[in-house]
Amino acid sequence: MNNLFEQMKTEGHERVLFCSDRASGLQAIIAIHNTHLGPALGGCRMWPYPDADAALNDVLRLSKAMTYKAAMADLPLGGGKSVIWGDPKKEKSEAKLIAFAKEVASLGGRYIVAEDVGIGLADIDRMRQVMPHAAGLPEEKGGSGDPSPATAYGVFCGMRASLEERFGESAFQGRKIAIQGIGKVGYALALLLHKAGAKLYVCDMDPERVAAICKVTDADPLLGHEIYRVECDVFSPCALGGFLNERTIPRLSCEIIAGAANNQLENAKAAILLKDRNILYTPDYVLNAGGLINIAEELNGYSKEKAYQKIEAIYDCVKEVFALAKKASILPSEAADRLAEARLAAGKRG
Ligand code: NAD
Repeated sequence: MNNLFEQMKTEGHERVLFCSDRASGLQAIIAIHNTHLGPALGGCRMWPYPDADAALNDVLRLSKAMTYKAAMADLPLGGGKSVIWGDPKKEKSEAKLIAFAKEVASLGGRYIVAEDVGIGLADIDRMRQVMPHAAGLPEEKGGSGDPSPATAYGVFCGMRASLEERFGESAFQGRKIAIQGIGKVGYALALLLHKAGAKLYVCDMDPERVAAICKVTDADPLLGHEIYRVECDVFSPCALGGFLNERTIPRLSCEIIAGAANNQLENAKAAILLKDRNILYTPDYVLNAGGLINIAEELNGYSKEKAYQKIEAIYDCVKEVFALAKKASILPSEAADRLAEARLAAGKRG
């Protein structure tokens, strides 16, 4: 427990709620990192963590990233996240979702829950029937729907700024782009890049997803280990986090990293390794904020047009990060953190 308080103090978390409901079997943790700019909005992840410590570490790390993401996207929102411990395929039940929604309600709007891995739009819709603090409802219910296409659009807009920074022009025509992970975001991103004239290289653990995207974009399919080595302008991590590390960075043959995955850098050293290899890293939480911006628009009465206009500002945001990195001779990841922290300090209540 002492460790937890120490960690909360160091990382700046405001509140951590441990939830246990005997009747439904719910075991969950809600972490609110920061509400200086507004209520903490963040997804609920259902995952079969090996133990409670792993669940706690994940929710603490993810909730902090949401604070920085919302601040950089200029949203009147704070950062939070929640995890339900269990296998979503085998252990999800209506009773657990309702019990969880009641826990969210107990926070009185300080935390707004949205979808994440293992929790879909229908689950959010079910929680919304119990309490109002849920966002990212299905489109047929007037909500913003699946955030993935909006996330992909934000990555696409921000990647332009990365191209401009490295090559002096933002056109995708003829650029070679390697996408790791053709999931919901990777697939939508590949379609946008193909339409803009880029040559694509793709990989995924699921061969069906690779075959499907190759059919519609003429992408070259690669094996998981080949994607790092392919000579390209942009390497776009769109699978899981932590794939940029001491083992993978020496293999890269790209000019730019710009992708949707959360927490792409395994640790702070990875950012230095990228700089040493003269690879331009585009901070993940700046680039992948499109889905959050889209969901946040729902809180004002959803308009897709307005949401997508706001998402386009990710281009300016990435430019601002690179400008500060250059001016202060710091890494882009440090520049993004510095800008986010300045916005938090400026918007701090009371
Ligand atoms: P997803 O689960 O739909 O897709 C992930 C894909 O990556 C899957 O197809 C999976 O098979 C593949 N994959 C997993 N490990 C791999 C590996 N080692 N090599 C190659 N492929 C691998 O997830 P998504 O919604 O597309 O999200 C992708 C990433 O973007 C995640 O890190 C997520 O946290 C992040 N993100 C997503 C959103 C969103 O709106 N969905 C928003 C912000 C950030």
